[in-house]
Amino acid sequence: MITLQLGRMSPRETERMLEFDREHIWHPYAPMPATTTALPVVSAEGVRLTLADGTELIDGMSSWWAAVHGYNHPKLNAAVTRQLGKMAHVMFGGLTHPPAVRLAERLIEITPEPLTKVFFADSGSVAVEVAIKMALQYWRSQGRPERHRLLTVRGGYHGDTFGDMAVCDPVNGMHHLFGDVLAKHVFAPPPPLGYLAEPDQAYLDQLSRLAADHAHELAGIIVEPIVQGAGGMRFYAPEYLRALRDIADEHGILLVLDEIATGFGRTGELWGCDHAEIAPDIMCLGKALTGGYLTMAATLCTDRVAHGISSGEAGALMHGPTYMANPLAAAVASASIDLLLSRDWRDEVDTIEAILTAELDGAEDLPGVADVRVLGAIGVVEAREPVDVPAVQEIAMAHGVWLRPFGKLIYTMPPYVCTDDEVLHIAAALRAAAESL
Ligand SMILES: *Cc1c(COP(=O)(O)O)cnc(C)c1O
Repeated sequence: MITLQLGRMSPRETERMLEFDREHIWHPYAPMPATTTALPVVSAEGVRLTLADGTELIDGMSSWWAAVHGYNHPKLNAAVTRQLGKMAHVMFGGLTHPPAVRLAERLIEITPEPLTKVFFADSGSVAVEVAIKMALQYWRSQGRPERHRLLTVRGGYHGDTFGDMAVCDPVNGMHHLFGDVLAKHVFAPPPPLGYLAEPDQAYLDQLSRLAADHAHELAGIIVEPIVQGAGGMRFYAPEYLRALRDIADEHGILLVLDEIATGFGRTGELWGCDHAEIAPDIMCLGKALTGGYLTMAATLCTDRVAHGISSGEAGALMHGPTYMANPLAAAVASASIDLLLSRDWRDEVDTIEAILTAELDGAEDLPGVADVRVLGAIGVVEAREPVDVPAVQEIAMAHGVWLRPFGKLIYTMPPYVCTDDEVLHIAAALRAAAESL
C-alpha cells in the first residue's frame, strides 16, 4: 500500500507482478506465455510515464494516438470525477443522459457539415463494424442487397474484429490466417506515397476502373484519410481522397472515412478529410476522442444514410453495445474536445512537425533507413529490414523516451502538449534508433 502511494514498487513486488503478467495476461499481438517482459508503469503525469523503479519516460506514442493532452490532466480528471459522483453508467436502450447529448452535439458541430447522426461505440474496432453495418444495411433498405462489398486500398488498418480485418491490408491484416472466413472485398493498390507527391494519373484511372467494374456490388468505399496508420504509417496526397469522393458520388456509393487515428488534429488539420476539403457519408472516430482516458468511439453519418437505413425492412440500425454512450467516457470526451479547442492545437502540432522535420533531416541517407516522413504530429523512420524491437526500445529509453516500433517502422506521435525540449528528446531517440539500423 505504502509503496503504491509513493508511486514505486519494491523490486520483489515488481518481479512477482511481471511474472504473473507473462504467464497469464494477453498483451496486444503477443504469444502466451509471453516471450518478452512488459514495462511496469505505476503512474503517469503530463507526457511522462513513471515505471515501478521510478524511471520516467516521455511517451512518444501518446498511448497509441489517444493521450493528446498528456496524463493526469486536472481538467479531464475533474470531468470524470464530476460525472462519477452522478452516475458511472446506465444502459442506453430506452434511456439517455446529458453527457451523451452534450458530446453528440459537440461532435456534430465540429465534424463536416453533412454528418448529423451519432452512434456511440465502445472501441474503434466496433465503430468500424458499425460503419460497415450502416453501409450494408443502407443498401439492403434500398432493395439492393447485392451491394454488399466494400472498395478499399491496400495498406489500410481498420481494427481487429472480423468485419474490420476483411478491409485491413490483406498481408498486414493476416488474411492468410482467416481468409476462408473473411468477407471478400475489392482492393485497389495502396495510394502512392507522399503527401506532397504529384497525383499519379494512372493510379487515379485504375481506381475509377475498379470502382466502375464493381459498382453494381459495392455498398461503399472505406479508407483512412491521408494517413494510413497501423497498416504501414503511409501518407498520401489529398487528390486521391478527392478522387474517391468523386468516384463514390459517380456511382452513388457511400464514402466511409476511418478517422480513428487521424481525427482531432493529429495530421495538422482537425480531420484528415479537411486536407481534401471533402466530407464522408460515414465517419469513424476513436482513439483521441476521450483524450486517452476511457474506451469510447463514435460512428457519424448523414441524414441520407440514417433515413435510408431506418426506412428499410429492419426499420432500425441493428447494433447496441452494453456500454453504449458510457457517461464517464462521454463526459471526459466532451472535456477533451473543449480542452483541445481552447488551446492553439494547430500551433502545437505545427511545432512538433517542424522539430521532427528538422531533427530527422538527413536521416533518410543512413544505410539502414528506407524512408523518413513527417506529417503533423507524426514522425516515421522506415527501416530497410524489420527492426529489432527490444534493441530500438533500449536506445529510446537511454534517451528517456518510450517508443513502440512494429515491423520496419520506428515512429512517434507525441502528445500535443509536449514542450519543444520534450519533442527534441523524442526526435533524438528516433534519430539514434535510425543510426543504429
Ligand atoms: C486503432 C484503429 C482502429 C481500431 O480501434 P480500437 O479502439 O483499437 O479497436 C481502427 N481504425 C484505425 C484507423 C485505427 O487506427
